[in-house]
Amino acid sequence: MIIGAGLAGAKAAEVLREKGFDGRIVLLGDEQHRPYERPPLSKDLLTGKADRESAFVHPENWYTDHDVDLRLGAAVTAIDRGAREVVLGDGSRVGYTKLLLATGAEPRSLPGADATLRLRRFGDTEALRQVLATGSRLAVVGAGWVGLEVAAAARQAGLEVTVLEALELPLLPALGREAARVFADLHVEHGVDLRLGVQVAEAGPGGVRLADGTRIEADAVLVGIGAIPNTALAEAAGLDVDNGIQVDEHLRTSDPDIFAAGDVANAYHPLLGRHLRVEHWANALKQPAVAAAGMLGVDAVYDELPYFYTDQYDLGMEFLGHPDGYDRVVFRGDVAAREFIAFWLKGGKVVAGMNVNVWDVTGPIKALIRSGSAVDIDRLTDPSVPLADVNTDRSGAPA
Ligand SMILES: Cc1cc2nc3c(=O)[nH]c(=O)nc-3n(C[C@H](O)[C@H](O)[C@H](O)COP(=O)(O)OP(=O)(O)OC[C@H]3O[C@@H](n4cnc5c(N)ncnc54)[C@H](O)[C@@H]3O)c2cc1C
Repeated sequence: MIIGAGLAGAKAAEVLREKGFDGRIVLLGDEQHRPYERPPLSKDLLTGKADRESAFVHPENWYTDHDVDLRLGAAVTAIDRGAREVVLGDGSRVGYTKLLLATGAEPRSLPGADATLRLRRFGDTEALRQVLATGSRLAVVGAGWVGLEVAAAARQAGLEVTVLEALELPLLPALGREAARVFADLHVEHGVDLRLGVQVAEAGPGGVRLADGTRIEADAVLVGIGAIPNTALAEAAGLDVDNGIQVDEHLRTSDPDIFAAGDVANAYHPLLGRHLRVEHWANALKQPAVAAAGMLGVDAVYDELPYFYTDQYDLGMEFLGHPDGYDRVVFRGDVAAREFIAFWLKGGKVVAGMNVNVWDVTGPIKALIRSGSAVDIDRLTDPSVPLADVNTDRSGAPA
């Protein structure tokens, strides 16, 4: 039984079949669409470069072909662990032997900002596309990944865009000061009115009022201030919940028959030695294999480094690792031309890397992080030195 028909849920069904499971699979989703990927919602679907069909995880007939009982518009309202059943909105019950929670996350809302837009589902993209097609001014609250991608799409559609961010730089919690500047410059250069360190007092269909009284008129306001994991079911069922559903490195919850994966899972990460909840596509893509293995009785360990990508204007970027407690950021390449790799270092070792308009380097960056060895900074920042050769400890090959 899988609750949540998003990327993680769909992948779990796929992997279970790939692993030879021939029992019953029920995939329950509260949306009306079969599982789809969300990154295009703020990129090619929004700009019209791609259509919905390209966003679905599987072709329409995949579920029947693989004997997956996909039920759409099926919101689960409770998990009865004693009876090993889940309860649906219509009161019906479905039994399970093993259960995966892949309920994802919901956009955090701004109190009192009901008539604003959000971006999580197909319908949200449609509403925003209408604004891009007919409006002339958009205000975006929150300079996180979603807010910035929407800002880029809106600028490319010719709208005036104001981005309002409470912190002093966009993406500050994710990237830190050094690399966050790249994104601030990018948007300012593309004509975004980027207002940093501001507090939004009120937001509605006609615009935003800041705490200092400044009024920003807009045809629509998009709120992109992060997401909250959908943990209500797990919490009510008495599972351990703390910033997501707490799972171990096998993605097992505090109930040995229940697993969690994707945005909703706060999983113990063996490399970091702590729990980590990742709201990224690659995580939702890969965690299900580990959860599925556990459901079939073969414990596997999830220790992938967090991976994320974004596309904004002509900037394409991939980010790998976790810059937890970093003490230095160094760059390799041309930052002004936005063609570089940034490395986050902690105690002389690389803990994260971000390649901007430089491709096919995530393998070597991953090897550098996983090696856990100190690097020679001069060699690391010299684009003529192959990334495979920048470790100061040459005695051991990267793991
Ligand atoms: C606009 C946008 C852009 C993004 N861009 C990027 C990007 O560029 N790069 C990147 O790495 N990541 C990106 N992400 C993040 C990525 O899309 C998510 O990490 C991924 O969707 C998580 O998949 P999931 O299956 O865990 O959760 P979700 O995709 O949220 O799916 C969970 C599903 O479960 C359903 N559900 C919840 N509760 C219940 C219930 N009680 N009963 C039944 N169904 C339920 C939900 O409605 C939803 O359909 C983006 C996300 C958004 C919203």
